Formats: sequence, structure tokens, C-alpha cells
Amino acid sequence: MSTSEMTAERPQRQQGLDYDAIIVGAGISGMYQLYKLRELGMNVRVLEAGTGVGGTWYWNRYPGARFDSESYSYGYSFSDELLQEWNWTEHFSPQPETLKYLNFVADKFDLRRDIEFRTRVTAAHFKADQRLWEIRSEAGKVYRCRFFIPAVGPLSAPTMPRIDGIPSFEGASYHTATWPHEPVSFEGKRVAVIGTGATGVQTIQEVAKTVGHLTVFQRTPNWCKPLKNRKITEDEQRRIKAAYDEIFKRCDETFSCFLHTPDPRSAMEVSAEEREAFLEKLYETPGFGMWQGNFRDMLTNREANKVVSDFVAGKIRQRVNDPVVAEKLIPKNHGFGTRRVPMESGYYEVYNQPNVELVDINETPIERITPKGIRTSDREYEFDMIIYATGFDAVTGSFDRIDIRGTDGLALKDRWKGSIETFLGIMVDRFPNMMMLVGPHTALGNIPRSIEYNVEWVAGLLGYMQQHKLSFAEPTPGAVEEWTANVRKHAEGLLSNEIDSWMTGVNRNIDGKTTRIVARYSGSAPAYRAWCDRVAAANYEGVDFA
Ligand code: NAP
Repeated sequence: MSTSEMTAERPQRQQGLDYDAIIVGAGISGMYQLYKLRELGMNVRVLEAGTGVGGTWYWNRYPGARFDSESYSYGYSFSDELLQEWNWTEHFSPQPETLKYLNFVADKFDLRRDIEFRTRVTAAHFKADQRLWEIRSEAGKVYRCRFFIPAVGPLSAPTMPRIDGIPSFEGASYHTATWPHEPVSFEGKRVAVIGTGATGVQTIQEVAKTVGHLTVFQRTPNWCKPLKNRKITEDEQRRIKAAYDEIFKRCDETFSCFLHTPDPRSAMEVSAEEREAFLEKLYETPGFGMWQGNFRDMLTNREANKVVSDFVAGKIRQRVNDPVVAEKLIPKNHGFGTRRVPMESGYYEVYNQPNVELVDINETPIERITPKGIRTSDREYEFDMIIYATGFDAVTGSFDRIDIRGTDGLALKDRWKGSIETFLGIMVDRFPNMMMLVGPHTALGNIPRSIEYNVEWVAGLLGYMQQHKLSFAEPTPGAVEEWTANVRKHAEGLLSNEIDSWMTGVNRNIDGKTTRIVARYSGSAPAYRAWCDRVAAANYEGVDFA
């Protein structure tokens, strides 16, 4: 069916509604949800704060930004035509190419005509008497719709560090997630980077290529692993295109939708030689192999984890010339893989450059940002530029930025105070007709794979409602309780829950986010999908359509 035919068949909307559905965000999830709801003949509007599509890949233009998942496992899988038309040029696509891809998708499926750019949503209130959502933009425009679909992403509310004096700095300063669209040169400049997460690592290794002098301010080192990126050859391109069915089948079967999945063996049941050979192979494997494809007990058994951590520590010691610097770069408070593993291409060698300095701010804390640079307890450093790679108010932060209110004016922020509770990570009781994409408590992993599933599940639910002339959907408290208990059960015994990170909901730059919570579903993606499929097959059992 063509798009125009679908539009012609649109069912009559309830009076007083501007749209059947409003999607907030034109990233990977928002774009696909628009496509899927058009198929249902729905009148949909996407509201997007940026000037273009792409979400994460629109905002995060920092130097060195690129995929950590294999490009061909990351793109949309829903259109064979798209898969055959698009050529990824590298095994791990750089940000400009990914953004180009998402623009290509928007053009191909004519998505832009239903997207309103430069429109930041500030509030979404459910009006129970009329069974509709009233959405308000920063400019004061009001939109009324039946379904409110926040597609705001888990990592889209950037946070600045809580350091005095930030506005006083006279040089250039950037947060990686709001990087300018114009090129930024580091040549001959004295540059500071604060933050050494996946973003900081990619930024540092790129800036170091041309910088005059680079100073990295590190609070917690992370275990990084070589990405091993390279160009895709013509022959590989042909083979990839012929193998898409197998690639996505593989992603469907693995624990977190990556091409890699845990090895069934325990690290403790193999000989020391076998272990060493296996880890050596994983270290050389491109992408997340060492994180996602390691011994099955690496993330649950302290001893197994130590084996892997010791191996990677050895690699860091080999690669960094100065043993004192090497020790600073080796994490001591958490084991390998218990936080998101940054992928690197020459990161450790950066610290062998004579123009690069590592400052451990646990030894010499940052006291303030000054007009000239950064003052630590030890001395003042002068800079031309400060780059904040200080991360995000993750998982719930992008929701918290919008004043979302359900029945009786209940704020979502308050509903989640103390503990997040959801139904499948998609719905929340007392927030009828709100369907979250990549919300808390969903399976994250290789995100586009999880997104496609979530989007299709939501489209399935809305299609079911359309078919049965239903205009109201709210999960029952019991269904929310059951799903939340399942999410918590899966979090038990994971070493990743013993360390602060965005994955445990901790961001010390934000009030009220200093204690660890169960923020994400950590069971397998196939088990997640099986649960959601069961719900759908039972006519959306757990959802009250009254
Ligand atoms: P992040 O992992 O939260 O890292 C933030 C960094 O800033 C940490 O090193 C943190 O130190 C530091 N920091 C924060 N506040 C600070 C302060 N007041 N003083 C000093 N240091 C401070 O954020 P991210 O690196 O942006 O990455 C977030 C996630 O985005 C990743 O885990 C990943 O899932 C995703 N990502 C994906 C890709 C990709 O796919 N290619 C690339 C980049 C990011 P502490 O550790 O001590 O808190």
C-alpha cells in the first residue's frame, strides 16, 4: 500500500484531537514508530527539538564518535530495499555516516512531512475527562492527541559536572552531546577533557591526533577494549548484503542482540592456557566480543571476572610506557565489563605522547573552573578549550525533562520516586495511552534491535485497539508489579550492580540520583521478547482497556 493510499484511509478522529499520536523525538525509535503508525492509517506528528532527524546521532557530533556495534547489525532491518540500497563503508560507522544514513531513511520513507523540527516538548498532561494527552512545546504551542509516545532515548539529557566557575571560563567549552555543527580545530591548542566514559575515550583519542597539548581529567578509569575497526571491502559489502537475514537472525538469538553472545563455559572450568588463548582471541576480535562474548560467568562470578580483568590490566601495562600512568588507567573499583566497556583505537597509546597528560582527580581534585582554565588542589592549568565528556542524566533523565502528568495530575517523576516501576518498560499505570520507546526496564543491548521490537509491539497494541474500537489503555497495577519484580529478579547477583554508573542510575551531578537503582532490564533479549509476545497473544493481558 502506498503512503497516499494509507492517508486516504485514515479513520475519522475524535473531535478535539489534533493527532491520533504524538511521538516525541525523531531519533531511531521515533522515526520507525512514525513509519509503523502510518501503516495503521494514523495521523501522527513527531515533535523534535533538533533541526534534523537522527536523535543520538544528530546531537553527538563530538570528534571520534562512532558505532561500537557492527554497522550491519545496527541499521534498521525492516526494509529489504533499504538494506540493499545502503552501503556502510566501515565495520563500525563514524557518526557523520550514521547521520547520513538516518537522513537517507527519512527521505526514502518521506518521514519529514510529519516531523516538526525545532520543537522541544516541555509538558505532556493526560486529560482523563476527554481521554487525550495535551502536549505543550517550549514555544507554547499545544497539541492534543490520543496517544503520547515519548521516543526520547535513554542517553539524551546531557549533564555538566558540578564544578564551580564553569561560566567564568574565557576559552571555548563544549559538552560532547551538544557539539557544534561547525568543525572545531584542536591544532596548536591547549585542550582539557573531563570524563573518560565511552564518549570521553572516543573524544580523547581523536583530539590527541592534532592537539597542541591535551590534559585528561579522570575520576574513574574504565576498562577499554580495542575496537579493531576497518573499511568494508567491496567483496565484504556483497557478502553482508547477501547475509542480512542471517545477521538479524543471529541478533534475535543472542543475549543482548549483538552479534556476540556469552561463551557457554565458565572461566573457572578451563585450563589457564586455554583461558589465556581464549582471552587473547577475544582481545583481537572486533567490537564487543570481549564484553558480550566472554565466559558466561564473567559478570556474575568474582573470580571469573578477576581472571578477565587481570588479563586486560596486563594489556594496559604493555601498551602504556609509563608504569605510573598505566596504573592510573587500570580500574581498581570494578571489574571488566561491569560498566559499559568503551571501545578504543589507540586510546592507551595517547598517554605515550609527550603532549598528553593524565590528571587523576582523586589525587588532586578539581577545585574550580577559572577564567583561564582548571584549578586542582595541586595547581592551575591554563586551557584554550575545555571539553565536558561528562555523560547524561540517563534512562529517566530524558523523561524527567518533560513535565509528564498522568491521571489526577500525578507527575511521572513522582510515580518513579524511589523506584522505577513499569509494564514491559513500555507503559506505566496511571499514565494511560502513554507508550515509551526504549524506556527504563526495557532490554537495551544493541539498541536499534530492541527499538524495532518495541516499536512493532506498540504498533501491534495500537492496531489491536483500532480493530476493537478501544480508546484507552493502561496497565493494571498487578501487571506493573509483576514486570517490575521480574526486572529486579534479573538484576540479582550481577557484578554490574555493585558499581556506580549510568546503568545503575547514578549520576553524582544530579540531586536525588546518588543511590543505585535497578534502571534497566538485564535479562536476555529473547526472554524479554517472549514475555511481551505472550502478553500480546493473550489480547494484551495486563492492559486495562476499560
Ligand atoms: P558516562 O559513561 O556516564 O561517562 C561520564 C564521564 O564523566 C565519567 O568518566 C565520569 O566519571 C565523568 N564525570 C562526570 N561528572 C564528573 C565530574 N563532576 N568530575 C569529573 N568527572 C566527571 O557518559 P558517556 O561517556 O557519555 O557514555 C554514556 C553512554 O553512552 C555509554 O556508556 C554508551 O552506552 C553510550 N555511548 C555509546 C557510544 C557508541 O555506541 N559508540 C559512544 C559513546 C557513548 P565517573 O565514572 O567517576 O562518574
